[in-house]
Amino acid sequence: MENIIILGTGCAGLTAAIYASRANLNPLVLEGAQPGGQLTTTSEVENFPGWPEGIDGYSLMEKLRKQAEKFGTRTEYVRIASVDFSGETKVLTAEDGKTFEAKAVIIATGASPRLIGIPGEKEMFGGKGVTTCATCDGAFYRDMEVIVVGGGDSACEEAMFLTHFCSKIHLLHRRDELRASPIMANRVVSHEKIEVHWDTVPTEVLADEEGNMRAASIRNVKSGEITELESKGFFIAIGHIPNTAPFAKELATDENGYFVPETGSQVKTKVPGVFVAGDCADHVFRQAITAAGMGCQSAIEAERWLAELA
Ligand code: NAP
Repeated sequence: MENIIILGTGCAGLTAAIYASRANLNPLVLEGAQPGGQLTTTSEVENFPGWPEGIDGYSLMEKLRKQAEKFGTRTEYVRIASVDFSGETKVLTAEDGKTFEAKAVIIATGASPRLIGIPGEKEMFGGKGVTTCATCDGAFYRDMEVIVVGGGDSACEEAMFLTHFCSKIHLLHRRDELRASPIMANRVVSHEKIEVHWDTVPTEVLADEEGNMRAASIRNVKSGEITELESKGFFIAIGHIPNTAPFAKELATDENGYFVPETGSQVKTKVPGVFVAGDCADHVFRQAITAAGMGCQSAIEAERWLAELA
């Protein structure tokens, strides 16, 4: 049986791993569908303390991983499908049926990009025009016009990143004011390659004869007018859904699926020895640094709990 299993290799999971391994707990980290978490799909991270020049998200996560491994963290690539927290031993079952047992568990499974739910979105997802990752796919749209959907920091960051490749970026936002931080919003509205379509939502992604995107149907929510916007790329950046489904029967979640920690703690759950950290449990801050902070807290709490158990 493992002392401690950590689920997730984003900022929360890897910070928990650094602390747990430095405490000689020999943690096993199970990494899921997106090794390194959301930051690996971000371009420049400008607000992580200690990096005055900024650092790209992938490099930051590689450094965190190396730091965790330096102290003995072990990593296995597996997706957990279900858990049984009813006994003292926590049992986790992977999608392939393999089971893991641990005294303590830290869940830091993050959140996944939200989709819009319009016709054509799923059909053209991944390689045919629709994507949730400008860092991954932006270079495919060199000298083309593309669409970005959303008004938060993610959408603005995606739009700014795409200015390096694309001839024009159409940012569709459903309101008349961006949600993004003022510095980011200013960069976007003043950029010559970005046109913001206020009060506008996409209603359908339209395909050409080969099934690739050719345009989007868009609607002005105030006037109701529907038009077609020609574009080969459609970047969705409208927030995230917490990855908590496999644990929802065992742990409390709110109406949006985020873990709800015990009163007075950010990371303790109602199950002794099970802790949560990062974007799966935080719908307020959702920052790399706050996720890292929760990862730290969860590892210290787990260490204390294991010490009491011994
Ligand atoms: P977010 O702040 O929740 O913004 C989501 C955006 O998508 C909002 O503008 C929202 O519109 C829009 N939206 C939501 N559902 C929609 C739908 N069905 N159709 C059309 N538009 C829809 O999410 P985020 O931008 O991913 O940011 C999440 C957190 O990460 C934030 O705290 C953000 O500050 C942080 N972040 C920071 C950085 C950075 O500092 N470098 C980069 C990225 C993200 P409304 O505005 O009308 O609600």
